[in-house]
Amino acid sequence: MLRVDGLSAWYGEAQALREVSLDVGKGEIVTLVGRNGAGKTTLLRCLMGLHPVHPVSGAVSFLDEDITALSPHRRARRGLGYVPDDRGIYATLSVEENLLLPLTAKTAGAEPWPLERVYDTFPRLRERRRFPGTKLSGGEQQMLALARVLRMGARLLLCDEPTEGLSPLIVAQIGDILREVKAAGVTVLLIEQNVHFAATVADRHYLLAEGRIVESLDNDEVREREHELLDYLGI
Ligand code: ATP
Repeated sequence: MLRVDGLSAWYGEAQALREVSLDVGKGEIVTLVGRNGAGKTTLLRCLMGLHPVHPVSGAVSFLDEDITALSPHRRARRGLGYVPDDRGIYATLSVEENLLLPLTAKTAGAEPWPLERVYDTFPRLRERRRFPGTKLSGGEQQMLALARVLRMGARLLLCDEPTEGLSPLIVAQIGDILREVKAAGVTVLLIEQNVHFAATVADRHYLLAEGRIVESLDNDEVREREHELLDYLGI
């Protein structure tokens, strides 16, 4: 579904991504794991076309189409959905207003999720539908950010560390939601430092170090090496 070939990116003179190649198949959940500064966020932003500094070299294809030169807006229309680490929700608007807004940028060819389907998947958001973004907990904000992108009919979610700073109970809920999203046929590429959680929710994993993919791991390998990986990540 997504194929990245030799992607490199710079911030001025500093190279942040070095010849990154990876692929994500339809219906998979794949994680990006790596220390702070390894280039994970830069990679997701490059995939969405949001990297602020050019040149970016290499190629990105999505659903067999070369999207390397497309604007973020056009990538979104083709079904890429980006959930940034600051969650990107409108704090002064209510949950429901946040959910109603994105339909103005409807995704071509994909079925947007009706509001009721969103509320069935995220019952907590139904309870909080009249609450402003400012009154939501971190977990509720994360649910709203995911729900907004699903409303647009995203086929591949690019999620920047959805579990960061959340309690174990809420992390487990995010895991359930990601499994539901997958069951609904949506593909997910997510940054995840909690490797224990990653092995319960994802199909496989890429380890990124200093802008390079250094290893590709399956769940058994992550479980066997959990302590080593947590040490390495400094967690
Ligand atoms: P973190 O989890 O800390 O966000 P990360 O793996 O997502 O880490 P990136 O944020 O992609 O890493 O950063 C990769 C490298 O690019 C780092 O060396 C970082 O300092 C640098 N970098 C990131 N954003 C910028 C920017 N706007 N300008 C200059 N350098 C940047």
